[in-house]
Amino acid sequence: MEKYLSQLNEAQLEPTLQKDGPMIIIAGAGSGKTRVLTYRIAYLMSQGVDAFNILALTFTNKAAREMKERIATIVGNTEAKNLWMGTFHSVFAKILRSEADKLGYPSNFTIYDTQDSDRLIASIIKEMNLDKDVYKYKQVRSRISSYKNSLITVRAYFQNPELIEADTMARRPKLGDIYREYVDRCFKAGVMDFDDLLLKTNELLTRFPEVLMKYQNRFKYILVDEYQDTNHSQYLIVRALSDKFQNICVVGDDAQSIYAFRGANINNILNFQKDYDDVKVFRLEQNYRSTKNIVNAANSIIDKNQTKLDKVVWTANDEGNKIIVNRSLTDGDEGRYVASTIWDNKMNHRLKNSDFAVLYRTNAQSRAIEDALRKRDIPYRIYGGLSFYQRKEIKDVLSYLRLIINPADEEALKRIINFPPRGIGQTTIDKLIVAANGYKKSIFEVMKNIDKTEVNVNSGTKTKLKDFVTLIESYQVLNQTADVFELAEHVTRTSGLIREFNKDGTPEGVTRMENIEELLNGMKDFVEGQKELADTTGSLAEFLEDVALATDLDADKGDSDHVALMTIHLAKGLEFPYVYIVGLEEDLFPSAMSMNTRSELEEERRLFYVALTRAEKQAYLTYALSRYRWGKLIDSEPSRFIEEIDEQYLENTTPIEERRFNPMLDADIFGDIEPNTIRFKPAKQPILKKGSTKSEPEKFQVTTPKNLKPVSKANGNTNLFDSKLVVGNLVKHIRFGNGKVLKIEDAGADTKAEIDFENGGVKKLLLRFAKLEII
Ligand code: ATP
Ligand code: MG
Repeated sequence: MEKYLSQLNEAQLEPTLQKDGPMIIIAGAGSGKTRVLTYRIAYLMSQGVDAFNILALTFTNKAAREMKERIATIVGNTEAKNLWMGTFHSVFAKILRSEADKLGYPSNFTIYDTQDSDRLIASIIKEMNLDKDVYKYKQVRSRISSYKNSLITVRAYFQNPELIEADTMARRPKLGDIYREYVDRCFKAGVMDFDDLLLKTNELLTRFPEVLMKYQNRFKYILVDEYQDTNHSQYLIVRALSDKFQNICVVGDDAQSIYAFRGANINNILNFQKDYDDVKVFRLEQNYRSTKNIVNAANSIIDKNQTKLDKVVWTANDEGNKIIVNRSLTDGDEGRYVASTIWDNKMNHRLKNSDFAVLYRTNAQSRAIEDALRKRDIPYRIYGGLSFYQRKEIKDVLSYLRLIINPADEEALKRIINFPPRGIGQTTIDKLIVAANGYKKSIFEVMKNIDKTEVNVNSGTKTKLKDFVTLIESYQVLNQTADVFELAEHVTRTSGLIREFNKDGTPEGVTRMENIEELLNGMKDFVEGQKELADTTGSLAEFLEDVALATDLDADKGDSDHVALMTIHLAKGLEFPYVYIVGLEEDLFPSAMSMNTRSELEEERRLFYVALTRAEKQAYLTYALSRYRWGKLIDSEPSRFIEEIDEQYLENTTPIEERRFNPMLDADIFGDIEPNTIRFKPAKQPILKKGSTKSEPEKFQVTTPKNLKPVSKANGNTNLFDSKLVVGNLVKHIRFGNGKVLKIEDAGADTKAEIDFENGGVKKLLLRFAKLEII
């Protein structure tokens, strides 16, 4: 038997070795579901299944990447890179790109993120003269999104009196009209939104039997992680693709189904056995992640739910510490408690920042935690806010690039037609939109032919419009020969973007410039590394697709040491030694908006179960007696979820009011230090044992962490080196892993190094862009 299989227990081995046929693994948190999927893929390949014939769908691209890396260590990199792996959205975006013409889309279609969709919907609401307080664009977007995910097209909508009636009752009789206009505009612009990526895949597979057959034959083995959170649209795709060979393996945990509010359907897991013939059902019971205390506490919670499959979860791990419950007076105190115990734990147990996660119900709760962490200079990172690629300056650059490959992209055009300012006012833009709708052409087409149109603008404006068209067309020419990086560098310089951001000289302006540098670095990396390693062509269209679908969780390459702050929804599937679940108060968690029905409350309870089961060693549950919400101080009560845990697993700590203010640690003595800039490290590591009388390290010394990136502003590139590389150095690359420097070609700023990497062999890298760390 292959050696890696010895890293599975018997219950895990069974589904791993079950090569063919439909199967489902239903098991609780931390029992190795994801591990089984990973090893199963390696095993299939060892049994002669071609990597090209395996499709694995995961919850995040990060999870897919990690799985692929693990598989690569077993079967080798060359084979692993041929696997089809990723989220539903990223995998099917690739398929749609090669089949786009069948659906009437250009193959270089661009993708609207939620921000773009929001903007377009808001603009349609305005154009239709509807009351924006009744037609709130975010609500309208989420309604349209749920139609799409239930495969209710515009035509289906208008054929369904019940839906029309429901929207009319909700005082939004024009919703269908907005839906139609939105769909038309996206189509005309040659763009798909996130939901289209699933909806259009379904359309493709139903309308074109030969396409269905092609992908059925390609994906002979299909595996889906986190199956409990698939929505109807995703369900149908999996069902269709697996119909021929029926080699489908799904894993999930009904107790972790937490996306019903976004259309996930728990019945997909409950009904799986009815959907296929001879389904093999596997159960895993042993949890490898958490201590006995955590596993038992989590079991005692989920027991309170009525709707659930019977499952056993136990662990052979240590008893562990009890779960610590802490009460604070205010949310500020809660933040200080979290920061001070993280600090203590780090000191006492020599831990890294990345051993800690702080989980909350809503994004707004992060602020108090951030403030406290910042004051103690504990580096942290917030996940799930605006992703890097959604920041203004980044979207500005990306909009130019989108327009280059797809001039019909309406939102991209509207973003940059007058940015940097070139004297094209909103009135002109409005006229162009009206004309474009009238002529059934894109705005860009109208601008291009402005002399032949009826658009009423003066000759000065006409010249400006034509200049803009010429600018974009000149970029299109360059795009035929330049790579993504060269093109973007040229665009940022010649469009005036850099000048615009440089101009103001404010700290925000500087940050924006640094972000653009970082974007360019990422592009260089994409061009240099991706071409050889990944399953891509390195084209601009592909780069844009990657970034449109990237979440900031995906962007995390684990290259810096920070405490993770995120919502519980985002933490699904992840694990951390120390986990804080904060804001455990009635109306906050469970959320006031989710307490109307039993099923809503049960979903909140599952969410709590997900949160608790992320912890490996120690869980903290914290709540505050009062908290600022909507600008007011509101009294709060502890969450019912704390009471629902069997008391024997809990330990209440000293209420914060007795240890509230510690002048050394809580005062803002360091001023406003940005996270990740400087860390304070004791001169000699004084390791403090619990109960030690000495509460403070004696002496502080300011050190710059080794992995801190000094940003050189001189040439617009980020230099990741603060020491010189020599032949023989051992280095680490985010993608290629560890390696040894074989040769250095000294050429000033363009110095290159030849490095022999564990994953990927010998590579020549340009030092100013390679993300290397000397180890
Ligand atoms: P979740 O429901 O949270 O997604 P999961 O069921 O997918 O959890 P995994 O993430 O696969 O669980 O495994 C949990 C942890 O236990 C991981 O750190 C994994 O490496 C470890 N683990 C799983 N199986 C074994 C095993 N047989 N021996 C040792 N460690 C294991
Ligand atoms: Mg998992």
